Amino acid sequence: MKHNFGAGPCILPKEVFQEASQAVLDFNNTGLSILEISHRSKEFEEVVVETERLVRELLNVPQNYSVLFLQGGASQQFAMVPLNLLPEGGKAAYFDTGVWATKAAKEAKKIGQVEIVASSSDKNYNYIPKGFEIPADSAYFHYTSNNTIYGTEVFEKPTTSVPTVVDMSSDILSRVIDITDYDLIYAGAQKNMGPAGVTLVIIKDEILGRSGRSLPSILDYEPHIKAGSMYNTPPVYSIYVSMLNLRWLKAKGGISVIEQENIVKARTLYDEIERNPFFKGTAAVEDRSRMNVTFVMENSDLEAEFLALSKERNLIGIKGHRSVGGFRASIYNALSITSINALVDAMREFEEKHK
Ligand code: PMP
Repeated sequence: MKHNFGAGPCILPKEVFQEASQAVLDFNNTGLSILEISHRSKEFEEVVVETERLVRELLNVPQNYSVLFLQGGASQQFAMVPLNLLPEGGKAAYFDTGVWATKAAKEAKKIGQVEIVASSSDKNYNYIPKGFEIPADSAYFHYTSNNTIYGTEVFEKPTTSVPTVVDMSSDILSRVIDITDYDLIYAGAQKNMGPAGVTLVIIKDEILGRSGRSLPSILDYEPHIKAGSMYNTPPVYSIYVSMLNLRWLKAKGGISVIEQENIVKARTLYDEIERNPFFKGTAAVEDRSRMNVTFVMENSDLEAEFLALSKERNLIGIKGHRSVGGFRASIYNALSITSINALVDAMREFEEKHK
């Protein structure tokens, strides 16, 4: 058995892969592949409707929010957010907690004025700044809820009276949130929702059209909303597999159940990192992510050897991102505690050998 700790695209449940592969050959006994049916067919329309229904149900999305399935990844949202929400001459507030947050701000700067309200770049983004001011005249406040590369997560939404936009690419569907705390949420699907190729956007209808700009339709949320995510040909297979994954999550008991599992998984791994004298965590303890666990070795000369041992033990994708080094175990929803235990066992084995 391979234990897939990849950061994204990443592990999805085996049963989702099985059903998804079946649909490539024969979708719902139509005698046709999911890959060859029209996106306007009744069969595919039902897929979009069910996917939206599952998102609404699992995340408890109120009726005054629209749910969209778009393309272009979270990166396209870095541009669509300011295009749709930042008026000419207006200013947006950005929270700089890592590479993705920086990229989002960089794109917004091409469209209007951006104020960085706080940054953790002084410590290579290993913590979440707190207690900063968000100017009340900002068109919106943008932040990244989980910093995939640095293993930090914002558990408490910074308080502000301005509309809040959040990139939840790497922690959406992993813990209970209150949608009404946010005005726009976006997430590339390829961590906890489904395969790469589709981006989930949840947007409060009243903030639409705030920028007053005339936009190309493909970059304007409104035509996508009016067309029910069918303004153009949607990423049919990515949506279909996301639907299967959302069904899996619902059958498990929903987000409150998976959140408890995620807490236990993260705690098990962090406990070992703290206990084992060969390893140390890189993120500030109170800001440690439940999705991406980053750690290094006390003696970095031993890292290559631990990586080799992990490979032997079928632990895949734990090499850290180049900007942090060491290791990163991404422990998304579909990764079981069995895989966490396999990693912990390898860490103990390494300790035994070297002590
Ligand atoms: N935001 C976050 C938090 C991410 O982790 C990633 C990708 N890993 C992105 C944005 C970029 O996503 P995409 O590749 O879908 O554009």
